[in-house]
Amino acid sequence: MSGTRFAGKVVLITGSSNGIGRACAVLFAGEGAKVVITGRNAEDVEKTRKICLSVGAKQSDLHPTVGDVMDDGFLTILVETVIDTFGKMDILINNAGSLEVDMTGKEGWEMGVDVMERSWNSNFKQVLQLTQKAIPHLIKSRGEIVNVSTFLSSGPIGVMSMPYYAVPKAALDQMSRSMAHEFILKGVRLNTVNPGLVSTAFFSRLPGVGDDNARKMEEYVQSKPEYIPLGRVATAEDVAETILFLADRYYLPRRNILEMK
Ligand code: NDP
Repeated sequence: MSGTRFAGKVVLITGSSNGIGRACAVLFAGEGAKVVITGRNAEDVEKTRKICLSVGAKQSDLHPTVGDVMDDGFLTILVETVIDTFGKMDILINNAGSLEVDMTGKEGWEMGVDVMERSWNSNFKQVLQLTQKAIPHLIKSRGEIVNVSTFLSSGPIGVMSMPYYAVPKAALDQMSRSMAHEFILKGVRLNTVNPGLVSTAFFSRLPGVGDDNARKMEEYVQSKPEYIPLGRVATAEDVAETILFLADRYYLPRRNILEMK
């Protein structure tokens, strides 16, 4: 799997040490991009780097950086690292995000405000901060931004569970729409994906959940046509393919249907 669709493009993907971000890193790297891989877990960052090499990426086209996106100082270092290493930034994928829980066991709107603050930081504030730092470079390259939100944020409906997750993601959607209008006037496109349930470590990493319970939950949800008529949850690769499409301004349909005889 070695292509040239993103040859020479410099891509920063937050949360690329696992899940959807890792799948993005591998797909971009396999298409010739220079990728800055980042996450908190150094071993997982390294694992992503190795998978990228296995799909044909050059060692010099991959740059791993470990840190916490909730730390503004790290975000500054991250952007500086991209520019110092590769000289420019073409694509920013704001993928990192998390489901924050109350360690005392409270759920829903009974969870402490400290949980909401962490969730705001993880799912909204760090995206704003990183985008502010990256935008001058993206304007120079007429670049692309793709933000990763969730289906739980959309529509005029209340979310029974996980409100502290849904609220900052809803704010992320509104910020993204507003930024998209402003940034395109400066040549930068911004799009958002709102995936449904995706089979990653997102739920299994929560305290007391684990892989088995997370997979059981996926099996239950996909067995109910009223939840997922297709009958299967999404894979990280499904979402990553969509992200690559949205990051590819020069995507050309393989066939022009209207010209088909
Ligand atoms: P994973 O838990 O598999 O991956 C999350 C990634 O984000 C990891 O690489 C993790 O790094 C990184 N990350 C999380 N918090 C931080 C932080 N504070 N600092 C640095 N890195 C961080 O989850 P997904 O791949 O599923 O999630 C990716 C995005 O997709 C999230 O924004 C999530 O909200 C969204 N999403 C997920 C859905 C799902 O069902 N899985 C559905 C809809 C949206 P590390 O492990 O190294 O800490």
